[in-house]
Amino acid sequence: MVGGYLVALIDKVRLKILEEIYKNIPPEAGLTKIEFEGPEIAIYLRDVKSVLEKEELIKSIAKIIKKRVVVRVDESSRKDFSDALEIILNEVPPDLGLTKEDVTFDEVLGEVIIKTTNPTAFFKDKRQLYNKIFMETGWRPRILRKPPLRSSILESTVKYLISQSEARRKILRSVGDRIHRDTLFKDPYVRITALGGFQEVGRSSILLETQESKILLDFGYNPSAPTLKQSMPRLDVANIPVEDIDAVVVTHAHLDHCGLVPLLFKFGYEGPVYATEATRDLMILLQLDLLDISKREGKPLPFDLQDVHKALLHTVTLKYGEVTDIAPDVRLTFYRAGHILGSAIAHLHIGVGLHNIVYTSDFKYGKTRLLDEAHTEFPRVDTLLMESTYGNATQLPRDEAEAKFVDVINRTLQRKGKVLIPTLAVGRAQEVLAILATA
Ligand SMILES: [Zn+2]
Repeated sequence: MVGGYLVALIDKVRLKILEEIYKNIPPEAGLTKIEFEGPEIAIYLRDVKSVLEKEELIKSIAKIIKKRVVVRVDESSRKDFSDALEIILNEVPPDLGLTKEDVTFDEVLGEVIIKTTNPTAFFKDKRQLYNKIFMETGWRPRILRKPPLRSSILESTVKYLISQSEARRKILRSVGDRIHRDTLFKDPYVRITALGGFQEVGRSSILLETQESKILLDFGYNPSAPTLKQSMPRLDVANIPVEDIDAVVVTHAHLDHCGLVPLLFKFGYEGPVYATEATRDLMILLQLDLLDISKREGKPLPFDLQDVHKALLHTVTLKYGEVTDIAPDVRLTFYRAGHILGSAIAHLHIGVGLHNIVYTSDFKYGKTRLLDEAHTEFPRVDTLLMESTYGNATQLPRDEAEAKFVDVINRTLQRKGKVLIPTLAVGRAQEVLAILATA
């Protein structure tokens, strides 16, 4: 009877996932547990060798259950830190210049974070080096690109996330519980409400509602608004408590799209924030900067450092093109937006083929010095929400504009003049520098 009762408690979606995994994992892998870890299903094994050797196995399980799957080694079968470190330093070719300072262990998730200037070296020849480290140490490698210049913000972000790993696992589990469940309603609808950034610049935010879920697309800040209320998205119009929101999607790190995400946490939001990895890192930098500037200007914001950290802890990073369940009836895929580092166009697939929305957020149609152009081919689109900044302005073709820009600078310098270039700090400034560097 107890067994029957337990089965009744697990809903159909979960039961199907568990069944398929048990059926497909070979017995020699020693399956110990399955966890719903945010949008991913984590499979813990005693020995990953047999699974890593059958390259297609995990992919085919993921395909059957239509979920993202991650494999980890059970705690009892991982090498201790010093042995694992020795193996890693021995296996990594000396020309990669890896030192022990580049290697950090995340005990809670069973991951080893390896910082390197050459991440591709770990994945070449069918992930040979990556798989070897994973098999021999039992620690799942997470390869991070080491920036050419030391970045204290990046280092402190990684350090903070590892120090809060236990809290993060709890968050991911509760997010996982909310995503991987049966849908409850049979009368589907999709509603979009503009909360900010429509016919104005700043405080961009859209509420996407279905009968099952509520998702915020961006939650920006408008620093030039005369009052605090006017600088915030109109969550009051939506009239929903923040606890009812299932997910927040951040398209890019400009503050008019993500500046007030920490405020949601101050109000009591406990759910996930989805962004690309680069957006997460830039977002923290800009939110901390925003706090600092507001304080110095005597216009303190209604959130503080703690809320920025809380937002970071709840951020789940996604790669471009990775289809991810963010609610029982909503799948999110990020595509390249060509706007700034990490910027994304969000494609949302709702229900089983019910409706498809593309929210472009800020995007750049052409290629730039630093970024490829925006992705423009989507599997299905029923509703397109398109940012229109500069959409009504006629601009010079890129090569003509660049030539004119360089010419003005050269003429000024010839007259022994000085050139000041007022520009947006994140994205545009780097693009301008790249033009000057090659002029
Ligand atoms: Zn932007």
